[in-house]
Amino acid sequence: MRAEYPDFRLGNVLATSFTGTLSERCGNPIERIPTPQRLIDWLAVYGLAVKACTTAQFNRARDLREAIHAAATAAAIGRALPASAVRVINDCSAQGRAAAFLTPEGKRQWKLGSASSVEDALGVIAADAISILAGERDGKLALCASPSCQAAFFDTSQSRTRRWCDMGTCGNKEKKARFNANRRGKAR
Ligand SMILES: [Zn+2]
Repeated sequence: MRAEYPDFRLGNVLATSFTGTLSERCGNPIERIPTPQRLIDWLAVYGLAVKACTTAQFNRARDLREAIHAAATAAAIGRALPASAVRVINDCSAQGRAAAFLTPEGKRQWKLGSASSVEDALGVIAADAISILAGERDGKLALCASPSCQAAFFDTSQSRTRRWCDMGTCGNKEKKARFNANRRGKAR
């Protein structure tokens, strides 16, 4: 049953991994969280296990995703952040009741509020987006060079010259296209 859904593309940065649940945005978009259950599954992968997800919470999650996408894209190209996107991100941040916990190994974990609700999880994602958009973290927002993707991603490479949102998909696709173009060139 699960196999019919597109795989998740898991990145290291929570907020932009979340926006990546809708990929190929400038081509034939692939929705990777098409149902509330898939959102629950995705959140669990990121240590944000929630008990249930209503349709309203699901829609809220997608609103937040699109708000982060809009704000991150604007930041990547040096434009002003859209006010509506900022509002949604701030609202989601305010509604979450998650707390940061320090593990004995010195890692940070998020503990959702007593209801372990979607709002708590979205609050964590919104806070992650805020820390990136506010320039608090070591890295730079950029847009994927794949024409059918153009997703905003957070480049933490030393040289800040990463071109793809995801090496396994967009990077590979581009490599393959170059390889095929080369081969066609040689055949001629
Ligand atoms: Zn991409």
